[in-house]
Amino acid sequence: MKKLSVKQVIDIAKIKLKDIENPIKEAELILAFYLKKTRIFLHTNAEFIIKDTDKYLDLVNERAKHKPLEYITSSACFYGYDFYVNKDVLIPRAETEILIDKIKSKIDKNTKANIVDIGCGSGIISIILAKYFNNAKITAIDISKASLKVAKKNASLLNVEDKINFIESNLLEQIDGEIDIIVSNPPYIKNSEKLDSNVKDYEPHLALFGGDYGYEILEKIIQEFFKRKCAYLFCEMACYQREDIQKIVNKYPYKAIEFYKDLSGLDRGFIISS
Ligand code: GLN
Repeated sequence: MKKLSVKQVIDIAKIKLKDIENPIKEAELILAFYLKKTRIFLHTNAEFIIKDTDKYLDLVNERAKHKPLEYITSSACFYGYDFYVNKDVLIPRAETEILIDKIKSKIDKNTKANIVDIGCGSGIISIILAKYFNNAKITAIDISKASLKVAKKNASLLNVEDKINFIESNLLEQIDGEIDIIVSNPPYIKNSEKLDSNVKDYEPHLALFGGDYGYEILEKIIQEFFKRKCAYLFCEMACYQREDIQKIVNKYPYKAIEFYKDLSGLDRGFIISS
């Protein structure tokens, strides 16, 4: 239980984090989380004495092994809000903000539509939609009980728990009744794809991998979309799946399909209207 000042402990941590981008910033973010203080506090109190530096340095060592910062601090930012995350849910990605923007651009703010979020994970999509649409009926579903627990916690932290119905279900198996809009950022990565260790070793495989081809779950969602006669499907996909998706959709009498790109200019999602 070594006592050190903020400045001394950051000097140690930044060396441990030398292989990570922005080592000082990350050392500070982990320390701010550990002390329940802000980074400004650290900058203005460099001589502040930390009583138990070992526990802080344990967290730094985990980060040095590439555990994502979000899992260390149990927090991730999405669409301007802080969400709770743990090992049971995917860390929100910036690309998924584009999916939200697409929905907002096509659907009236006052819609009374039934919106279903398939594979809600940490709940980010349903929660942002619940904040935006005042009259829509939003159902967030996931096959994982553990992730639904996280999603409910986030809905409560962000004050929309009364606006979302959470259901444990494999795809739409447990869902009856009319659905107008399906939204999904499902697992779509090919099983054989080589991922960075910070993703592969820490994020839930159930949330990442879609099957040997990658698009298996996407195909099931598209099938359900037509079977249930929904009006819109907003969905994320991998950058190499555009042709596969087009082929699947061609089997159905759709009105329009639009593919959209992410911030790197890669294909990232599609919108089907029927
Ligand atoms: N909908 C959640 C997200 O976008 C979960 C996605 C997933 O687990 N595949 O982060």
